[in-house]
Amino acid sequence: AYRNFSSHPPEKERTLIVVKPDGVQRRLVGRIVQRFEQRGFKLVGLKLLQVSEDLLAQHYQQLRSKPFYPDLVQYMTSGPVVVMAWEGHQVIQSSRKMVGHTNPAEAQAGTVRGDFSLHVSRNVVHASDSPEGALRELQLWFQGQELLNWDCVDQFITCEDI
Ligand code: GDP
Ligand code: MG
Repeated sequence: AYRNFSSHPPEKERTLIVVKPDGVQRRLVGRIVQRFEQRGFKLVGLKLLQVSEDLLAQHYQQLRSKPFYPDLVQYMTSGPVVVMAWEGHQVIQSSRKMVGHTNPAEAQAGTVRGDFSLHVSRNVVHASDSPEGALRELQLWFQGQELLNWDCVDQFITCEDI
């Protein structure tokens, strides 16, 4: 029974996580990466970049008509961001929970936003919100060859030998 997951097969899902400019400037990158590693997810893509307004307009296409959109663009282009692709079982749903409510005032303690931020306009991190959104956003932010498949040195001990 320990050897396989046949009743709940693990899904190899991927999602986009972005440490926003305030997160980079406040030196929170390491602590955010640590949370995803600690949870058990696998890092399959990572880069630091300055976002263009064009990329942002595509990323936030549903928000372009919102009154706060100009502020959002200014915020997201105010410095470099760290863009990550994380892989693992139900990573999209789990990472949304780890990131917490959009408005930090409503985010639970223990979430990234609940632990590190105060205001919706500076909420430190982005996480894709659905399988369709994750696929769209990963294709937008990463070239195909930037996302890697790789094996864990400990996978044979922790997953298969026990
Ligand atoms: P998310 O998926 O939790 O990031 O939330 P949304 O997709 O609804 O919004 C995208 C981002 O826009 C949020 O993370 C905030 O940074 C920003 N945002 C959302 N609502 C507001 C708002 O009312 N005011 C401002 N200034 N920014 C907002
Ligand atoms: Mg969103």
